[in-house]
Amino acid sequence: LKNSTCLITGGAGFIGSHLTTRLVELGANVRVLDNFSTGFHANLEPLKGRFSLIEGDASKEADVRPAVDGCDYVFHLAAMASVPRSIAEPVLCNDWVASSTVQLLTASAASGVRRFVLASTSAAYGDSSFVSKRETDPLIPLSPYAAAKIAAEQYCHAFSRSCGIETAALRYFNVFGPRQDPQSEYSAVIPRFVSMILSGERPIVYGDGGQSRDFVYVDNVVDANLLAATVPEASGGVFNVACGSSTTLLELLGWLREMLGKEITPIHEPPRAGDVRDSLADITQARQVLGYEPRVSVAEGLRRSVEYYRSI
Ligand code: NAD
Repeated sequence: LKNSTCLITGGAGFIGSHLTTRLVELGANVRVLDNFSTGFHANLEPLKGRFSLIEGDASKEADVRPAVDGCDYVFHLAAMASVPRSIAEPVLCNDWVASSTVQLLTASAASGVRRFVLASTSAAYGDSSFVSKRETDPLIPLSPYAAAKIAAEQYCHAFSRSCGIETAALRYFNVFGPRQDPQSEYSAVIPRFVSMILSGERPIVYGDGGQSRDFVYVDNVVDANLLAATVPEASGGVFNVACGSSTTLLELLGWLREMLGKEITPIHEPPRAGDVRDSLADITQARQVLGYEPRVSVAEGLRRSVEYYRSI
């Protein structure tokens, strides 16, 4: 990837800013396309002058064409990355997730991009059953967000078959780590729990807390993106990106209790529409084809995240 030109859509967001940082450090020429709907300039502040920023919309041809022109690799992370928001704004979600993918694939095929890597999601599996999810499992979207990501994956497949562009889709499970926004109306569970506990509030648990997730630290997701772009056999593939272990929300609170040395009594509220009960990945395919290994464990990632939230 050194000296290659890479476009990262959504590069000012939580995961995108970590990928941008890694690629800049590796010596790639990095461009970021972001509309700053949920991204922040501050996420990229330490990299100022070392990458180019294009403020624009990944679903608009006029913004996408010049951003993609001359790129070797495209990492498409821009999205409305929230299940509840997609239920409130399904048309905009489709624009940002599915239409943006079509625009980017069209421009990528036209300008000879070597590989297009899509950020997809475990939400594609829906609430099937509590077995670890394999890439070949049926896809049962429970939200407009999940439906739009499945459409985006299908567009990758279709473009790779009909336009000769190499693609790979990564189904991220529950990603966490520094810079994940705890203030957002739709914030994810780990930043929400940590920031509430640190400010002396009781964390809110939707449902009984027995729901489980396969949490994955953001550095592991960056590793998977680099492998998906460069491993020849990844072309045309779909890969789960997770740790392959499940943690319930109550277990998470137990770990945080130990790490923070605080007694924690959550407030229970009704379950949220569109949320799945259990989510666990089978990561065999990513291990075997990509050579992916989750290098940072959930506990270590949680420690690093707690340190980060304490420091801000
Ligand atoms: P995020 O909201 O921090 O990042 C999304 C970024 O995309 C933001 O910077 C936002 O401003 C930008 N953006 C949104 N729509 C855009 C558009 N139309 N044009 C240009 N920029 C746009 O979210 P994140 O958690 O970093 O998610 C990154 C990707 O990973 C998303 O595609 C998301 O669906 C996927 N994903 C995330 C998780 C997770 O646990 N965080 C899990 C599965 C999949």
